[in-house]
This record gives sequence, structure tokens and C-alpha cells, in this order.
Amino acid sequence: MRGDDMGLAQVADTPQFYADLVMRHSSDAVIISDPERKALWVNPAFTSQTGYGVDDIAGKEPGSVLQGRDTDADTARLIEAACAQRREIRVDILNYTKSGAAFWVDLRVTPVYDSTGRHTHFISTMRDITERKMLEDQNEEMRHAEALRQSERQLLALTSEWLYSAKSFDELLMVIKRAMHTLIPEADGALYVYDASRTMLELVASWGTLPSFAGHILPDDCWALRRGRAYAFGLKPIEFVCDHVKKPGTPYFCLPIIAHGETIGLMHIVFDGFEEGGLMRHMRNDVLRNRWDISLICAEQISLAVANVRLRQELQEKSLRDALTGLWNRRWFMENALREVAMAERDGHHLALVSLDVDHFKQFNDTYGHETGDMVLKEVAQVMMAQSDKAVAPCRLGGEEFILLCLDHDEDAAIALAERVRVMISEIPLTVSGQVLSGVTVSAGIGLRGRDGTSLEEIMKASDMALYRAKAEGRNRVVSQSGPQERVEQT
Ligand code: GH3
Ligand code: MG
Ligand code: MG
Repeated sequence: MRGDDMGLAQVADTPQFYADLVMRHSSDAVIISDPERKALWVNPAFTSQTGYGVDDIAGKEPGSVLQGRDTDADTARLIEAACAQRREIRVDILNYTKSGAAFWVDLRVTPVYDSTGRHTHFISTMRDITERKMLEDQNEEMRHAEALRQSERQLLALTSEWLYSAKSFDELLMVIKRAMHTLIPEADGALYVYDASRTMLELVASWGTLPSFAGHILPDDCWALRRGRAYAFGLKPIEFVCDHVKKPGTPYFCLPIIAHGETIGLMHIVFDGFEEGGLMRHMRNDVLRNRWDISLICAEQISLAVANVRLRQELQEKSLRDALTGLWNRRWFMENALREVAMAERDGHHLALVSLDVDHFKQFNDTYGHETGDMVLKEVAQVMMAQSDKAVAPCRLGGEEFILLCLDHDEDAAIALAERVRVMISEIPLTVSGQVLSGVTVSAGIGLRGRDGTSLEEIMKASDMALYRAKAEGRNRVVSQSGPQERVEQT
């Protein structure tokens, strides 16, 4: 090599020789064209880049040979415009080799002038940047995908935060509807929950635009419930439609909702408009696969949130129920009665309190023992429980003292209710190890919103006073103290 170099320097030490050397060995392709842009000459790098020799391109406009199907037309026009104005231009453009392979070049077209200022040629240099372009595209795709994932993660995190802060089942349903609609906007969805008998699932929430979800589904109607795991329809070549699905052919997911190891419901997500051959076919599977992943995460989070709400409700329920009788406890009564009195006052609705106390209970305890006494309290509570409904809430305030919170009950309704309870309690058959016990009775006093006052305290005081009267007047009776002319119901 050293000898060659020395030889070159000796015999060809001219600028022309160097220029020749560059043209022959440059890795950039070079085309020299006339002012009409017809190619005159190409360098060897052009031939190795494109597969075209001088004869293939001479006399032709290079763009007409090199550009192809996916070449950006706007870029091609930019080049033409620049050449027409004899401006230099540099662009990235997609070219095609003689054998039809596409490749990207960084193209620079420069007009050249002679010493008199006459435009004589265009010189085009082209550097192959296919690899760089591919990397750029990949990066762009990755950035795009990453940005999408990032926003999905953020949404999911936000959703789980909301799901976990839901205090009641209703609140949870509201969050689920909003979250699912936001996370998977192109789908409609429904949530089903097993009914108490666990023979079927009831529709408890739906979202999206499709109104036609089955109101009830049987566990056997759904592949996900039958197989005990999430089921996707529309992604695999062999699959079967669940019986509860209204529009066969539409892709959908069925995801069991599991709380504390027990399947308690089903989330059903439907992609209307994603049918095979539909509008979005080209991107359909990609979208569905992505949504499948999100749906699995959502189903899991909803499952946890349902378990969470249940636990919360159980604990709350426990702290508000009386352990012996199962009736609402004093705490529940005070909180709810306070609110209900205020609302009844605001809306002008009736509200009554019935205070009840077991007669001579101390004596009963002394005779039969405290345990038998407890059993009686449970029986008494059962009678009140049987009378409870949306408007009537029976509570045990402590010991053998009870109270019925009665919404929308005027005096007559309250007396009728108290009478019913009194009679039923007096008819409870009591036996301990075969021995028939004398019956228990209760006395009751009635307090009314309006007649007796506007505050809970006043109404409670009135019902206590009436109860006291019932005791004084012989027990086993209902008294509604109504001003000077009291009403006493007697047996
Ligand atoms: P009165 O007809 O005037 O109400 O007579 P009484 O004996 O029921 O009198 P009072 O209400 O003052 O007595 C309450 C008695 O109830 C005291 C106690 O022996 C009994 N008792 C209170 N709480 C319980 C309980 O949780 N279990 C049992 N077995 N007895 C209770
Ligand atoms: Mg008492
Ligand atoms: Mg008593």
C-alpha cells in the first residue's frame, strides 16, 4: 500500500486526478444532469446503490427512474420546484432500486454555474439512510406505544384509586361505569351479579350506547362462568358464542368478577362495529388484544374493589347491629333517627317513634335465669324484625328496651303497628325443657313528630313518657300521649 501511495503522489499529483479519485470511490451516489435535469453521468456508487448504470438513466430525469409507489408526492414536487427556480434543495426521499427494492436517501440537488454565471448542470448526491430511517420509525413507534401505555397506566391507577374509595356498592357501580367507558371507549359493557339464590345473574349496570343487554343470564349461558376464567370471543379461529350474547359475530369479552375466592358476577364487554369484515378490520385484532389486557386488569381490580366494599359493609353492619338480637343498635338509631327527623321536618312528612319495654322482666330473669331471659329477648326481637320494612326500623337501645323508627307513620298507623307487635309478643309460646312458661308482654309508648316536637330529643322524650304511662296504667298496652286527651289502647 505504501508503495502505491508513493507512486500516486509521484505520477498523478493534480487536482483533476484527486477529483476523479473522489468520484470513483465516494460512498455517496452522484448524478450529474443538464439544466433540463436529464441525467448525463453517474458515479459507481450510484450504480451499486440503485443497480442502474449510466445507460439506464442517461437522458432521463432521475426522479422518473428512481421514484416509485410509496414516494411522497409532495417531496417530489418540492424537488421539481427547487430545480425550476435553480435553488439548492435537500430532502429525505424514498427511492427504488432497479430490482424494485425501496430505500431511503438523503438527497441534495445543487445547481452549478460556469464562470460566466450560466447554469450548466445539476449535481445530485444521494446518501442511503434506510437504516437510520428504520431506526427512527421504530423509535417513533416505540415512543408512541410507550406514551399510550403510560396514559393507560395512569388511567388504570386513577381508576383503582376511585374503585378503592367506593364506600357502597352503588358508588362502586358508578365508578366502574365511568372507568370502563373511559378506558375502553369503543366498547359497550355490562356488569352482572349473582342473585341471592345463585341460580342466575342480574344486570346491575351497563355503559356505552348498546342498550340491548340481557336483563338476566344463567351461569350455563356463559363460557367464562362455565369454565371459571375470562373468555374472549373474536380473537381465535375456533370459538363459540355464549348464549347470553345478543349479536353473534360481534367480538366480546366475558370476565368473571371474583371476591374472596367466590365468583360473584360477570363483566361483559362488547365491541359493536368490530365484526369480521367491518370498517376497522385492519386494526381490529391489535385493538382487541390491547383491550383484552386492559380488561383483565380491570376485572381483577373490580374484583378486589367488590371484596373491599363487601368487607367494609360487613364491618360497618357489625358495628351497627346488636349482637344478641340482630336489630339495629343504639348508635345506628341515633345517627339515622336524627337524620330522618330532620328530613321529615323539612318535607313535612309523618314520623313516629314507638318505645317498647318488656314488662316485669327483672322478675322473669329472676325466675327463669338470665339465659332464658336472653332467649326471650331474641324472640321479642324476631317479632319486631317481622314488622320491619322500608319505613319501619326496629332497634334495641339496650337491656330490654326497644324502639321502632317509623317513617311516614301518623298516629293511627303507629298505634296499629305497636298494637300488632304487642299482641304478637304476648302470643309467643315459651317453653324451657318442656316446661311451658308464662307469656311475656311489652308496654309501648308513641311519640310523633309535630304533635310532640320537632327534634329527635323531644319525640323520644314523648314516647318515653307515653311508655311510662303504659306501665303505670297496667302494662301490656300501647299509649299515645296526645295532649290532655290521651289515647290508651287497652286489652
Ligand atoms: P317493668 O315492667 O317496669 O319494665 O319491669 P322490669 O322488671 O322490666 O323493670 P326494668 O325495665 O327496670 O328492668 C330491666 C331488667 O331487664 C333488668 C335486668 O334483669 C333485665 N335485663 C336487662 N338487660 C338484659 C339482658 O340483656 N338480658 C337479660 N336476660 N336480662 C336483661
Ligand atoms: Mg326497662
Ligand atoms: Mg322492663
